[in-house]
Amino acid sequence: MEHVVVVGAGLAGLRTVEALRARGHAGRLTLIGRERHRPYDRPPLSKAVLSGKADTSYVETDLAALGVEFRPGVEAKSLREGVVETTEGELAYDGLVIATGADPIRLPGDGPQHVLRTLDDAHELRAMLVPGARVAVIGAGWIGAEVATAARRAGCEVTVVEAAETPLATAVGTEIGARTERWYDGIDLRLSTMVESVEEGGVRLVGGGFVEAHAVVTGIGVRPAVEWLADADIDLHNGVVADEHLRTSLPGVVAVGDCAAWWSRRWRTRLRVEHWDTALNAPDVAAATLLGEEAVYDPVPYFWSEQFGHMVQYAGHHPAGERLVYRGEPEGKWSAVWLTAGDTVAAVLAVDRPRDLVQGRRIIEAGHRVDTERLVDPQVSLRDC
Ligand code: FAD
Repeated sequence: MEHVVVVGAGLAGLRTVEALRARGHAGRLTLIGRERHRPYDRPPLSKAVLSGKADTSYVETDLAALGVEFRPGVEAKSLREGVVETTEGELAYDGLVIATGADPIRLPGDGPQHVLRTLDDAHELRAMLVPGARVAVIGAGWIGAEVATAARRAGCEVTVVEAAETPLATAVGTEIGARTERWYDGIDLRLSTMVESVEEGGVRLVGGGFVEAHAVVTGIGVRPAVEWLADADIDLHNGVVADEHLRTSLPGVVAVGDCAAWWSRRWRTRLRVEHWDTALNAPDVAAATLLGEEAVYDPVPYFWSEQFGHMVQYAGHHPAGERLVYRGEPEGKWSAVWLTAGDTVAAVLAVDRPRDLVQGRRIIEAGHRVDTERLVDPQVSLRDC
């Protein structure tokens, strides 16, 4: 393969470049990215960068040694077979990697609205987090909770507005979400509250209320960044449709990371996972596939979140209807385990119990039945259940 073009210079794009070289691709490699930064990690943005403990989170890599032509500030605009049209002209490719990630969803309204996706977003927002500042966070999901944590620590007066009846409802359901409500101590948490628009000076609520704020942060989710593919002859459905090898419907084109909706052999469904572990590990399979090798991406998905002094970790995939059991009480360290009808583990969420996460992930991988009576005893190690 002569020339491989990688669109999107986030973690997934960079890791694919590295994997292509590691697997022996000796031809030309071009990496284009819309941002002006070299590749960086996003998880620290809402943690160390927002709280001022770090200024950047660049991924350690040697682009020169990789022999990749890195072109920051270049955006892909459209795709036809063999050619990517960019803001700086056409790029012909023999192999193409789509790694364009996801973009935050914004709310209607003319008021200033922060989102947190890029390093620049994090710096802009950090400057607003000063003692006494009123900060309205819209959405009590992963990002909203982490922003609320940083804002509270910075001494801001924080209001969190959430449409669902509990935090984290979309991600892990209301039953578990309710267990996290107590973490919002000192925060004005408004549940079952819909935002109409973001206005100058705050947030207008459906039904007439207004939350005054110096800074409004919208954390209501992301959409796969695939608008540039709208006219391309490639299957799109909740992202770029890919098979278990991360191959798309176009020959010589693979997709990885937040933008890819890949077929999971393990769960027999299509998954699009917006988490760091996928961006880190899927690229090796994408690179292998592009080079004509046999590889399957079939992980037990994993992610973590650090919020209100808690380490929250999740592994697995839980379709609606799985049985939920707990290890430990909500006031302390606890885990939730989703069980299938056959008493195998579908997913684990561990709060300050990292061992449960590690052992739970192994049990999910192995797919064996567990003793549910032992499982609910937090003193019993998960691997002995
Ligand atoms: P991205 O990192 O989004 O990279 C895609 C790149 O492509 C971007 O730089 C984008 O500008 C560029 N691009 C988009 N369109 C184009 C185009 N048309 N042309 C050229 N370039 C383009 N995950 C966890 O597991 N745990 C966490 O604690 C965690 N915290 C997070 C905190 C924050 C603030 C954010 C934003 C994400 C967090 N994540 C976390 C998620 C994780 O960072 C993402 O899953 C990961 O960044 C996805 O990597 P990616 O390379 O697929 O996409």
